[in-house]
Amino acid sequence: MAATINERPCSSAASSLGDGKPEFIQKIENQIARINAIYLLQKEDGVITISEDRAIRVLLKRDSGQFWPSIVEFLTSVPLSVYYDEDTLSLLVGMVNGTVYEYTIAADFNSIQQNRHWEAHTMGVTGVVSSNSARMIFSCSKDKTIVWHCADTSVKIGSYLVDSLCTTIKFDPESKICFVGDYNGNIYVLRIVGNSGQQISKLSAHTAAITSLAWDSKRGQLYSGGADSLVIAWDIAGQKGNCYELNGHDSKISALVLAENPARLFSVDESGHLVCWDLKAKRIMAPGWHDHDRCELCDVPFFWNVKLCWDRKTVGVRRHHCRTCGHSVCGNCCSHFTTFPAMGFEKKTRICNTCHSKMQQYPDQFDLTPLAVQCELNKGIATMCLHEDTGKLAAVSFDRSIMLWDVSKLL
Ligand SMILES: [Zn+2]
Ligand SMILES: [Zn+2]
Repeated sequence: MAATINERPCSSAASSLGDGKPEFIQKIENQIARINAIYLLQKEDGVITISEDRAIRVLLKRDSGQFWPSIVEFLTSVPLSVYYDEDTLSLLVGMVNGTVYEYTIAADFNSIQQNRHWEAHTMGVTGVVSSNSARMIFSCSKDKTIVWHCADTSVKIGSYLVDSLCTTIKFDPESKICFVGDYNGNIYVLRIVGNSGQQISKLSAHTAAITSLAWDSKRGQLYSGGADSLVIAWDIAGQKGNCYELNGHDSKISALVLAENPARLFSVDESGHLVCWDLKAKRIMAPGWHDHDRCELCDVPFFWNVKLCWDRKTVGVRRHHCRTCGHSVCGNCCSHFTTFPAMGFEKKTRICNTCHSKMQQYPDQFDLTPLAVQCELNKGIATMCLHEDTGKLAAVSFDRSIMLWDVSKLL
């Protein structure tokens, strides 16, 4: 069967990215508490973490080859989100009580100083981001607001209320647009003009909470990961409303990280499945699902079509949808499963008998070469961070360890 060449985990099939795989470097074990966010340092072999035990830690690699803390700073409440600017050494930390703290980490990573703080929200700060060019600091929260403060005076400039708990935020300084994910699976696209936030659009395609966003400013593409296991690429710059589904996960997406230069997106989920997506690959939008009350191939009525079932003295069947043509079909007419990377299906998906025969008949028209590399990290991942230049990826597992991976062969 031509349609079954890509068995998961796909360790042997060469993809459009070649046959490079992530290589394990080192594990930093036995962290005291659950890590809520991590930043992989670029100028030093080390990481910044914020943890459930109310601590900011800087862990540096020592001569022994082991990572040890050079800074442990305890806070008054639990830190949820972090933003670090390695040029200005400024560290922003969003707290569970709604406060945002700003610290400066010394250039030698041996000391930390608290500069200021402001009560930005009434509930947990789930995302914080600073823009040097716009001189603004943005935060979003479980209190359903996005708030922006002046980076120089820390005076509040404006705020915007959405319908649900905010989960994550990204900012594009050039267009002054904020992308904010929420708990209901929506993404708000807000243009910030002075103290007002103008909603340009609301992107709704996920069926569960947005867990992570990545913004590719070069190509004008936004990537969203959801608790519905789906990654979606939104072509914001194209302005035609195109969006592409990236189906490679079976568990909640826990983090997305982007490498802009070779155009790769890494997505990881709560079961530890890591996917590196080739963003240069030409992709096709998945079709909308047809709404029919009987099978479009064999005409058998679906179970809710009571009249037709009665007229024909037949039992109605369950409806399925072919993922590559969108037709409403019965189980008998869509018994085939295949990958279809061009449409984002890196894992096998259901297709109808017509599409299956077309794929069999014209294999040259249906290139099934994977457009992503998949890998098992063997531990559920809570969050991760990528350093594009060195090709290092830090992944934090639920068992409180940090795994360092070399992904340079994928970049
Ligand atoms: Zn049928
Ligand atoms: Zn079909």
